[in-house]
Amino acid sequence: MERNNFGWSRFHAYRVFDEFVERFVLNRKSYVTRHDKDLDFEAAFDEIHSVFSEGYDDSNETFDNKVERQFAEASENSKIVFANVEYLWAMPVQNIRPTTKQSYAERWFDDKSEINTSDKFFFETPHTIANAGIWYLQNKYWELIALLRVLSIISSGSGALDHVSTKRRIAEVCYSAIYEGGARQGRFAVTKVCGVHSALMHLSDPEKFESIISESHKKRIASVFEHVISDRRDITCREERIRLIRKRLYDEYGDEGDPDSKYRWFFYQDNIKPLWIDKKGISQQSNASIVDEVAREQAALDCSEEEGLKETISTCRVYRSAKLAGQAKQRDEFTCRACSFSFKKKIVHVHHLDPLSERLSPRKTTLDDLVTLCPNCHYLAHFWLRKSDRYKNLGELLKKLQSSLKAVSVGVHD
Ligand SMILES: [Zn+2]
Ligand SMILES: [Zn+2]
Repeated sequence: MERNNFGWSRFHAYRVFDEFVERFVLNRKSYVTRHDKDLDFEAAFDEIHSVFSEGYDDSNETFDNKVERQFAEASENSKIVFANVEYLWAMPVQNIRPTTKQSYAERWFDDKSEINTSDKFFFETPHTIANAGIWYLQNKYWELIALLRVLSIISSGSGALDHVSTKRRIAEVCYSAIYEGGARQGRFAVTKVCGVHSALMHLSDPEKFESIISESHKKRIASVFEHVISDRRDITCREERIRLIRKRLYDEYGDEGDPDSKYRWFFYQDNIKPLWIDKKGISQQSNASIVDEVAREQAALDCSEEEGLKETISTCRVYRSAKLAGQAKQRDEFTCRACSFSFKKKIVHVHHLDPLSERLSPRKTTLDDLVTLCPNCHYLAHFWLRKSDRYKNLGELLKKLQSSLKAVSVGVHD
């Protein structure tokens, strides 16, 4: 439906993941190193569990020093399996350098030529899937336990799985870990939030799961842009909600010429990122994105281009008419309908009562869809519109604005 001609396999991360699943998960051969022997997964998971999980070391030493000590007596079989697991953890993320990724594998083997070296294995953006955030690195121990858990479940499954069902199964196990608390039991039990689950879901089914690894990023995006899908409260799956948010925001913020940003880096574009990623907390992120929303609405309404011309350029854009906005201002006598603010027929905004209806099914705006508001009230209108669809109704909106103005006494203009 929305695929167009976008090909995920254009990027190493997706190709490598497919090969990894084929060679390591299904055929039990090392992927990141050149060892050709058949790997004994059960023996490896047992040994890794005893030296790495049970031998958990919470000292301040570096991760590298710890694992070298923990695996000092371990079999080559276990080291090869662990090297592949660690590779899969590091492979898709932007914020670990290729040389660092390679050094992880190299530390296990005296003969460094055993390690695959081409940049197909160790690559940078745009071939990675996302920036994993700092948590992914700091939480490395648990991320690896989570990964070991997923791989040990997949490989202990009964019956021979094929490539497609293996990937589907990986996505299911990860989904359950994130949303159903499915990782808390078993040999490699995990109670922490692990980004690797999101990374694996996306790699397994990029059409269905967004290329966002960080749990806190997903949380913020779902919260800041919640209003964009306020008509779809029936969708409860957060993954699906974020996917729909991206699709809808794309109409306004997207770059038609750049499929990468449409499918892979959308929320990290320069015009989207500042609206949600700030560390100042959810409320300030909402503020930033409301201000942007209002500015975009004004720009569209003040646009003096001919409507017909715009329609021929793009059929999915929102069409608005400067003429209609002018009529609304005349009708409302250049005065804010909520607080009566008026200044020399200037500083008045035209607000569209239901901006979303246009976005969903492009239609012609009528005068009844528009109301003039001062910048303050306009900001508040969008604030309330995010809380409830009720404020698409003019009467409800004006009533709410008037009572909010009283409550915060910001309505003093002259
Ligand atoms: Zn006002
Ligand atoms: Zn508005």
